[in-house]
Amino acid sequence: MPYEMLSNPEAFKREMEKRAIALTQRIDKAQPEPQAKMILRRHFKKGKTALILPNGNNFGDQLLLEEYWVCKIEEIKMRKEEVVFAKVNWFWNPKDVVLRKDAVLRKTNLGKRERLTSNTFDYVHSSRFYDMYTVQPYEENDVYEAAIDEDELYSRYDYNPKTKVASTPATFCFCKGFYNPDRDVMRVCLPCAEYIHIDCLRKGGSPQTNLQKPLYLQFERTLFNGLGYDGYMDMPTEKAHYEGVPQNIIDLARSPIVRGKHFGIVGNGNPVMRARDYLAAKIMKGTPIPNDWMKPCYVTEETVSSFILDLAEKFHCPKCLGPV
Ligand SMILES: [Zn+2]
Ligand SMILES: [Zn+2]
Repeated sequence: MPYEMLSNPEAFKREMEKRAIALTQRIDKAQPEPQAKMILRRHFKKGKTALILPNGNNFGDQLLLEEYWVCKIEEIKMRKEEVVFAKVNWFWNPKDVVLRKDAVLRKTNLGKRERLTSNTFDYVHSSRFYDMYTVQPYEENDVYEAAIDEDELYSRYDYNPKTKVASTPATFCFCKGFYNPDRDVMRVCLPCAEYIHIDCLRKGGSPQTNLQKPLYLQFERTLFNGLGYDGYMDMPTEKAHYEGVPQNIIDLARSPIVRGKHFGIVGNGNPVMRARDYLAAKIMKGTPIPNDWMKPCYVTEETVSSFILDLAEKFHCPKCLGPV
């Protein structure tokens, strides 16, 4: 474990200062490897996050991203214009987290690539810095959240190893359960503002909707505060409204919203909602689709199709009976 957590904050500070002095005294002997030196000189900045080589590993070792230790740089100590060490604030790997029995968050709700912010600090020598790295903050309640790639680390919760308590996770679905992106696939009911586990939808044998409109239109025209409107918006259906609209926008707008497992940590909420907003603005106000429409959707020509979900598996919200 790289972290020291003493019960007395003053004692902790003194211990850290002592280590810092000891490190400075040893620096003439220490020979940071060239790669580490280069990384630090170029990118080392307060407030940035970085990957640290775990104890027992060296540069050149083939490590997976999730094997590195992750920290935020709090303070940089220099000597003769060389970065010597840094005070760091650790992100915790779920496998090292110990939670009280009565803590709301359970380890089984944490994803493999998840890291927890903490109140634990340490001093790390410059030779242990592998690379700068951004841990993506993830607001799990926000349907408009920017996509997080499968190969990125992300953070939702804060952890205090002293009290063994973490921040309380959001609950979702009619089962009042949690969201583990590695385990759960969830659909969204926008009128109910609710993420629903696909397993709960399957279990519930959700009833069929009796809405008159075809399913694709129900998806396309269900907005979330789009044009100030929440829920299904009854708009005119004329061919001319779709003229000049890229097929990808139409396909996105007609897609259910999904997240989790192979659909990605964040899923397709942002591109689907923005596509629906573009279409609604075009139909209701005649607003043309901007050329750079993909940018706010966080999609590209290469990735857009991966956010489009077909309607092979149809579900309906158990509460409002709307399609999800
Ligand atoms: Zn559920
Ligand atoms: Zn609903």
